[in-house]
Parts: sequence; structure tokens; C-alpha cells
Amino acid sequence: MEVEVLNYGGIITSIKVPDSRGKIDDVVLGFKNPEDYQKEHPYFGCLVGRYANRIAKGIFELEGKTYKLAINNGPNSLHGGLKGFDKHFWDVTPGDSKLTLRRISPDGEEGYPGNLELIVTYSLSPENELLIEYKAMTDKTTHLNLTNHSYFNLNPMAGNILEHELMINAQKFTVVDPALTPTGELRDVRNGPMDFLQAHKIGQNLSEVPGGYDHNYVLMAQATHLKHAATLTERTSGRVMEVHTTQPGIQFYSGNFLDGTLEGKNGNRYQKHDGFCLETQHFPDSPNWPHFPSTKLAPSEIFESTTLYRFYTL
Ligand code: BGC
Repeated sequence: MEVEVLNYGGIITSIKVPDSRGKIDDVVLGFKNPEDYQKEHPYFGCLVGRYANRIAKGIFELEGKTYKLAINNGPNSLHGGLKGFDKHFWDVTPGDSKLTLRRISPDGEEGYPGNLELIVTYSLSPENELLIEYKAMTDKTTHLNLTNHSYFNLNPMAGNILEHELMINAQKFTVVDPALTPTGELRDVRNGPMDFLQAHKIGQNLSEVPGGYDHNYVLMAQATHLKHAATLTERTSGRVMEVHTTQPGIQFYSGNFLDGTLEGKNGNRYQKHDGFCLETQHFPDSPNWPHFPSTKLAPSEIFESTTLYRFYTL
């Protein structure tokens, strides 16, 4: 297994893993040239923050103060605003099968309070596992939600991801309004197209989900140990990917807004559903929903989370 990461945006530009015959393919979407990531694109491979996912109308209150963020997605603030963590250069320290990325997000950046020190480590294990460890400290109370936004396709030369089989270990999801922000309701997935408790093809019930899958699934109570969140199986290549995380949620996004305009690394144009994301994270708009797990980080605390992507073949 081999992974490439840019110091720009902490972007994962390639993940090369074998199929069941030993043939290596790059299973993430992205561009041929590093410069292309500085142009507009839908967060291919990026480290996303300060707040991954949406904050409704870009407003939250914290310790009696109202914070207003840049609106960059319909009426909402998405993925950290106009210049999120994905559009900054990070300091990188290489290690043994490991990269440590550091950055200070200054007080007031994109409207968020507090100087936030970030340490993100990407490491590879001999078992074909990519581990991402996030750590953050602040000098003022702030809200924080970090993720990696890789788009996967486990059989990249064979078209879209609708034949991939998906299992998500979640009994509930956060219901969203047409602007894709939570209504506050946590709804049972069972007996409908949102249910991935039993593995089945992504495309099987997709037509019953208006706009496609773009939903946060509620994993078990927040834990300090890794829990198995999702498994993807692609039977032609025999590739399997498991996602394990300490985070309380996972956004399953079926690449609905890919529309053929972006030219990918193989000269192909990325069409709708050519890749999917499984973004381990806190729930969207948590600052405005007290019954969601808290995304608040105080100066006395250290934020830590871990996500592991494990690859193997059938
Ligand atoms: C969001 C999508 C969005 C995509 C690219 C995902 O995390 O849920 O709605 O289109 O990121 O920005």
C-alpha cells in the first residue's frame, strides 16, 4: 500500500492498494498535477476544518457571543468557510511510514474564535491500514469538527460506485432540510433506503433518496476506542475497505454533485457517483443543536480523534 499526501490542504492525492490478483490501483479521486488542487474542486482528499460539514446560516452562539461565518454553500457555511484548512499549507514532518502535519489556525480565522493548534498524523501499517490521528488545542473556547474528504472508488477504471456494496453500522441518521442542514431529528434508518445495516449495493435504493445520499449517520455513543463504522466491498476487483473511527458520526456522500466538469488523474471526467465519501466526523450544525454530541473545545481540553481505513481483498 502506498499513500501520497500534499502539504497543501493535507490532501491525500493517491491511495494505491492491490486487488485480489495483486494488481495495484489508485482508489481515490483526484488530479494529475498538484497545482490543480489549488483550483476550485469539491474537497478531493482534503483535511477539512475548522468545521467540516454545514453550519446553518453560518451562525452559532458561544459563551453569550454570536459568531458569524462566511456563507459559501446556499444559505450555509460549509467545510470551514471560504478558506478552510484545505486551502492552507501545513508544516510537514516525515517519519517512518508516517507524516505529521501541523498548523495554527489563528484567532478569528473564517470567523471562528481562538488560536487553534492542529496536529494531524497520517501513518501506514504493514496490514494495509491508513491511520489518521487528529489533535487540537485552543486558547479560547471554539467549535471544531475535523475530517478527511477523500472520494473513493475501489475499482476506478470500471465506472461509478453504484455496484459497490456498503454496510454502515448505524441505526439512525440526522434528518436534513432541503438546504442539507439538520432538522434536529435523529431518525431510525430501518425499513427505508437509508438502511445500510445489512450490506447491499449503493445503487440499490438510491433512486428513493432525493438528490442521492448526503447524510450523517449516527454511530454508537462517542467512544475513545475505534469502532467499526462502515465496510465497502467491490466484488470485481475483490477490494474491501473498512472504516473505523472514534468519532460519533459518518457522512455518507454518494458524489451527487460530480457533473463531468472536472478532469481526473487518468484523463477521465468525473461524473455523478464516480466516487463516494465516508467522512468520519461530528454531526453537522452541532453548535446549534444541544442534544447532538458537543463540538465545543475549551482551552483546558485537548481534542483527539482517530480514523482508520483498512484495505484487503476477498
Ligand atoms: C457534503 C456535500 C458536498 C461535498 C463537497 C460533502 O461533505 O456533504 O454536500 O457537496 O462535501 O463539497
